[in-house]
Amino acid sequence: MTYKISLITGDGIGPELSESAVSILNAINDKFDLKFEITKLSAGDKALEETGNALPENVIDTIKNSDVCLKAPVGESAADVIVVLRRILDLYANIRPAKSYPHMPALRDDIDMVIVRENTEDLYIGKEFSLGNSAVALRVISEDASKRIAKYAFETAKQRNSMKKVTCVHKSNVLRITDGLFVKACTEVSKDYPDITFEQMYVDACAMNLIRQPEQFDVIVTTNLFGDILSDESSQVVGGLGMAPAANLGDNFALFEPVHGAAFDIAGQNIANPSSFLLSIKMMLDWLGAKHNDPTCFEVAAKLESTIFDLVKSGIKTKDIGGDSTTSEFTKQITDNL
Ligand code: ATP
Repeated sequence: MTYKISLITGDGIGPELSESAVSILNAINDKFDLKFEITKLSAGDKALEETGNALPENVIDTIKNSDVCLKAPVGESAADVIVVLRRILDLYANIRPAKSYPHMPALRDDIDMVIVRENTEDLYIGKEFSLGNSAVALRVISEDASKRIAKYAFETAKQRNSMKKVTCVHKSNVLRITDGLFVKACTEVSKDYPDITFEQMYVDACAMNLIRQPEQFDVIVTTNLFGDILSDESSQVVGGLGMAPAANLGDNFALFEPVHGAAFDIAGQNIANPSSFLLSIKMMLDWLGAKHNDPTCFEVAAKLESTIFDLVKSGIKTKDIGGDSTTSEFTKQITDNL
């Protein structure tokens, strides 16, 4: 099958990661019975500088006309790009797996968990204003969005080959009304899933337990800001941001991106780890496979993941995970080995 991919090339290390992604997609085009038509798009800091708009209308239209979107990290204007895209495309579930692989300089090598982050509301609705000498931000939590993400988390736990547990993470002892509503919604949804263990945990305790006892987690469901923070932490437990992919899912469309930001400190040096973006492509292939009932997508997804990890196992890896390969050397090896 042929799939139309819209690709936001991003800022900072974004263009290097995008180059790597295009090489891999072209290699898949050559080696498997799967075809991609890639349209590169500019959104973010560079687009803002050139057009005065971080997310130009034609970019939104192209994304809407594609089958799926890949997005490299964007810089300072991230909130004007990804937060807006999540809202207008109704990509309500942000899926951030933290999975241990062998031969990583990680805190733990036995972790397999996923954070399911509500993606459309909380403080990320962007309603901030000044009030006299104070600054105020609105935190919106709705029953509908909370139930929708809770259902997604329980469905995820049901499908995973794991301990079948959902942990609702919140701070309802302080945020009594907003997080109180979130916990109540999750608890109500849990009643429809009697075979899945349900527990709740304050976000500070969760932050501690991710270091102290991360093996207790299977699926974490949480609100937007807590999910953002905890997923950077969980990625560090298993190998760092260079290995951390993410999916933004709606009912009919999806966007895949690394967990990390534009990492300006290492931009242009050809040392960024492209695995975060390539594992996002792996998640994209699984999503396309499920949506279009296309077994080749699943096959290529599994092949891409195993190729990345066989390579790392053989000692060929980028600097962030203890190797000395450049971004382009690492990418070339994957295209050769696929
Ligand atoms: P944001 O706040 O925009 O979400 P972030 O804090 O999640 O960003 P960055 O600030 O871009 O992510 O990354 C933090 C640090 O992690 C960077 O300074 C960089 O050193 C490292 N890093 C991130 N991504 C990669 C990568 N793909 N390869 C190697 N190192 C990375």
